[in-house]
Amino acid sequence: MSQTAAPRTSEILSEVDRWSAHNYKPLPVVLERGEGVWVWDVEGRRYLDMLAAYSALNQGHRHPRILQAVQDQMERITLTSRAFHNDQMGPFVRELCQATGFEKALPMNTGAEAVETAIKMVRKWGYEVKGVPADKAEIIVCDGNFHGRTTTVVGFSSEEQYKEGFGPFAPGFPRVPYGDLDALRDAVNENTVGFLVEPIQGEGGVTVPPEGYLSGAREICTRENVAFMADEIQTGLGRTGRLFCCDWEEVRPDVLIVGKALGGGVYPVSAAIADDEYMYVFRPGDHGSTFGGNPLGAAVGRASLKVILDEDLPGKSDELGSWFMDELRAVDSPHVDHVRGKGLMIGVVIKESSGPARPFCETLMDRGILAKETHHQVIRFAPPLTIDKGTLEGAMEEIAPVLRGEGVEHSGG
Ligand SMILES: *Cc1c(COP(=O)(O)O)cnc(C)c1O
Repeated sequence: MSQTAAPRTSEILSEVDRWSAHNYKPLPVVLERGEGVWVWDVEGRRYLDMLAAYSALNQGHRHPRILQAVQDQMERITLTSRAFHNDQMGPFVRELCQATGFEKALPMNTGAEAVETAIKMVRKWGYEVKGVPADKAEIIVCDGNFHGRTTTVVGFSSEEQYKEGFGPFAPGFPRVPYGDLDALRDAVNENTVGFLVEPIQGEGGVTVPPEGYLSGAREICTRENVAFMADEIQTGLGRTGRLFCCDWEEVRPDVLIVGKALGGGVYPVSAAIADDEYMYVFRPGDHGSTFGGNPLGAAVGRASLKVILDEDLPGKSDELGSWFMDELRAVDSPHVDHVRGKGLMIGVVIKESSGPARPFCETLMDRGILAKETHHQVIRFAPPLTIDKGTLEGAMEEIAPVLRGEGVEHSGG
C-alpha cells in the first residue's frame, strides 16, 4: 500500500493533525472536488465515492437541482430562527409529511438532534398519554446500535469506546440483542414508552436483522402501547431499495427519524416525524433549535426529497443493489466471509483470520475506490444512488482483485 502521501496531501494531513482533535482515523486522501459519484483529490486523482458520506450523499455530489435550490434560496433569505416564520419551512414539512404519510414533522439539523427530539417526544408522550410515573420512562434500545454522539445517546451504546470516559449517563435505556423478538417482549414493562431501532444497523456493521423482525417488533409495540421509533437516518430516503427500510416489511413506525440524505450532501437537515398524538406534547418553549427549520435548510430538504422521488432513487438502489451484491458474492475470495445488505447498503464481511477490513479499504483507495471499514471486519459499499450500472461494473473490476487479496497487506491468513 502506498501510504507515503504526495507532498500537498501530506502537508494538509499534518495540518489537520496539528490543529484539530484526533477523533477520526480517515483514509489519507484529501478531496477538493466532487461531482455525481466522483471525487478528486488535491493531486488530481479521481475516485469513485462508495461511502457517500455515510449515505448523506444519496443524490450524489453537487446535484444540479439541489445546488439550484441552494443558490435561489441564498438570493432571498438564509436564516430567520424560529422566533419568526419563514416561507420555506411550511412547504418543507408538508412535503415531508406527504412523502412519509405522517401528520407532523419537526425539523432539526444533525441526525443526533433528531434522535434526541424523538427521545424527548416519546418520553413526554409516555408521561402525558400513557400515564407512566414521573421519571420512570424506559426506551428499549438494541445491542450494536448507533444513534449519534450526544452524551445521552452514547450512554446507551454497547460499544465501550463510544462511552469510556464520557459518563455519567442518562438512565432509562434498557438494551436487548438486535434481531431477537423474545428479548424485546421480555424487556417491555409498564414503564416502557418506546423501542428505538435501526432497520439495518449501519455503523454496527451493516447488520441485517432476520426477516420478520421489524413487523414482529411492530406487533409487540402496538400490543404493549409502546412507540416504535425507527432511526432511518442512514437506511432511509432510498438507500436500501425502498423509500424507507421499514417499507420492506410494510411497517409504519410511530416515530420516524430522518437525516443525512435529507440534506442532499450540502447542508445538515434532519427531522423527527410523527402523528399529532406524539407531536402535540411539544408546546412553546419545550424544545427548539436555532437553525432547525431555517429557510436555507428547508429549501435544501425540499429539493433533496424531490430528487429522491423524481429520479426514483429507491428503485435504482433496489435494482442495482441486487445486481451488485450478486457480483460481490460471486468473487472467489479466501478472505470474504459473507456479503450482506439491502439495496445499495452493502457490507462485505472479512474473515477474522484475514485481519481487519482497513487494509482492504486502503488498497481499494490506491485503485481509485473510496470505501470505509465499519466495525473492524466489514467493508461498506454505499455509493450515491445516482450511480449507473456501467460505473458499478467498472468498480467491480477494481474491487474483485482486492477482495481476493491482491496488494492487501493483511496481518493474518
Ligand atoms: C449517522 C447516524 C446518526 C447520527 O447522525 P449525525 O448527523 O452524525 O448526528 C444517527 N443514527 C444513525 C442510524 C446514523 O447512521
